[in-house]
This record gives sequence, C-alpha cells and structure tokens, in this order.
Amino acid sequence: MNRSARVSGTFTFKIMRESDFDRQKLIDNLSRPEEDLEKMADLARKRVCGPDVIIRGIINFSSYCCRGCLYCGLRQTNNLKRYRLNKAQVLNTVGKIVRAGISTVVLQSGDDLECGGQELCGMVETIKSFFPDIAVTLSLGERSKTDYKALRACGADRYLLKFETMNPRLYRYLHPGRDLDGRLRHLRLLRELGFQVGTGNMTGLPGQTVEDLADDLLFLQEFAPEMTAIGPFIPQPDTPLKDSCCGSLKTTLTMISLARLLVPFSHIPATTALASLNQDGQRLALMAGANVIMPDFTPIAYSSEYKIYPKTSTIDLAVALKTIQAAGRVPGYGRGDAITSSIAHKLIATIFRF
Ligand code: SF4
Repeated sequence: MNRSARVSGTFTFKIMRESDFDRQKLIDNLSRPEEDLEKMADLARKRVCGPDVIIRGIINFSSYCCRGCLYCGLRQTNNLKRYRLNKAQVLNTVGKIVRAGISTVVLQSGDDLECGGQELCGMVETIKSFFPDIAVTLSLGERSKTDYKALRACGADRYLLKFETMNPRLYRYLHPGRDLDGRLRHLRLLRELGFQVGTGNMTGLPGQTVEDLADDLLFLQEFAPEMTAIGPFIPQPDTPLKDSCCGSLKTTLTMISLARLLVPFSHIPATTALASLNQDGQRLALMAGANVIMPDFTPIAYSSEYKIYPKTSTIDLAVALKTIQAAGRVPGYGRGDAITSSIAHKLIATIFRF
C-alpha cells in the first residue's frame, strides 16, 4: 500500500471509529473530498461485497399517490395518466425477472393508500407461492403498522423507505403535512418487524447544506441500514421546484463513498437518478462504492408514466449489464441478502489494518 493510501486508511479508520471527529471530517470531505476517497470506498466494497454487482428487478406497479412532496412528479395534485397494475400483470412481470435469472424483485409505488393492505398481501403471497426463492423488496411509502405486519407475515423480505434529509425544517418544507420524526418512527418500526431495511437521502435539495449531508451520513452510520440509496435531486418540470438546480454528480459520488466507509456492509445501488443526471453516472457510482443496480421491468406501456423525476433513458437489463461490464465488474444474480456488520467490519479491518 502506498503512502497516500495509508494516510487515507488512517482517515477512514477515524471516520469509522471516532464519533466526535466525524461531523467535521465529513463536512471537510463533502467540501473537498480526500484524494483517495473513492478508491478507498471501492476497496472496501471489493472486500465486503466482492466483484458482483447485484441485479434487482424493479416494477413500478402504481403511480397513484396521496402525498404532495414538492420535488415529485407523482404528487397527488398533478394531472397525470395514473395506472395501477393488477395482480396478474405484476406476476407476469415477476416471471420475466425470474426468467432473466434475477433473484430479487422490488415492488415500488407512490403512497397509494387506495391499494389496501389485503391487495398488497395478495400480491406478495402470490409471488412467493409461484417463486418461493425470490426475495421481495417493497417500496410503498408510509403505511399503517397493521399493513407492515401483514406484509412481513406473508413473506415480504425487505422494505425501502428513504428519509431524504435529516434536516427537520427542510423535511417539513419538502413534505407538506409530514415530519422527519414520523418518518424515522416508520423506519424503526420496519426494523422491529424484521424487515431488512433500506433508506437514504437526496443530494442537492434546494436549501440543503454540506452540514445537512454530514448529518444524513451520521444517521446512516447510526441506523446502519441493510440498503443505502443515495441519489441526486433532479427538478421535475411539473413541480414547485421545477426551477431549482440539479444535485451535483461529484457530491453524490462523494456521499456514496462516505456511506460505503461508514456503513461498509450496506448494499448501495447505483441509482437510476444518477443515470438521468449523467450518462456515465451509474458506472462512476459502481467505481465509488456502489454494488447494486436495479433495471426497470415495468411494462413498457406504463414505464414512461412513472414520472417522479425526468428520466433521460430507461435502465433496462441490457443497459444495466453494459454498465456493469464497463465498470469491469460481473453481474450478480443472487438474492443479495443483508451482509452482517460484524463480518464486514472484520473484512474492512484487514484492509486498513486496525
Ligand atoms: S415522493 Fe413518493 S410520497 Fe412523495 S409525492 Fe412522490 S410518490 Fe408520492
């Protein structure tokens, strides 16, 4: 290991172990990243996750939403062509994912509370009865405890619920009628109920500071999610934030690298939003600590209607495979279940010699 790598290794050791030191070091890195930060994160990813980029097939099955998030094109008051796939359509799409050799399906929707717990459970049960070895990740927004419990009981394995920002004031502004404490209660509840939990933030939100981003990272370190999704803010033309600036590619990559070092065992996707921000964004994320990619399997007749943010292209399986190859990695078709933190820390320790 050369001298600069040793210096960065020491730095990494510090951010992982000395909590008083963390915030300022994180702020410093977000303002001016250490030279070897992405390399160190890539090394940590290699050691903990190996060369595989886990592929998860995503189905955006409903574009209905009862909320009004200021950054999102699916907000309730937007006049859109809404859709909700029925159980047969979802099952048929899951079949395509399974036939492609993929072992995780991600069911995503807006906060579609008209799609009740029973209907959702029916969907999960059917998927599990046809494909018992498939992991089911849900990304359905905030639901009742009763729904979470029922979904877990009928076999859902994971739940993704991003906190978006740890700045409570910014959170309230962006999510009218909601607050950060409530969001965090949902996250803790999901964990108590036995889900593998995914969460994360957006970078470059209007009014967000580097201190806010450092707090997002500290929360990730404390909560230690099994999955960590970090994506840039991209203004959607049909939202109140349409004239705001995009998040930066560099900052998003730095956040991914810092997350990899702070929560080394977490599965970190190269998000689709990064691909919309920059053609090469997903490959760069894979080089900076990410280890997951989620191609879109939503039936083509509906995929363009899922307008959370403007997408420049659809990330289908062929595109995802090309990106993996361009990053010099190999596709991973396993379930990609949670990696335990103790194993990850042992593996990381062998790199950084602490
Ligand atoms: S971010 Fe989610 S909850 Fe908010 S408006 Fe969009 S789909 Fe609905």
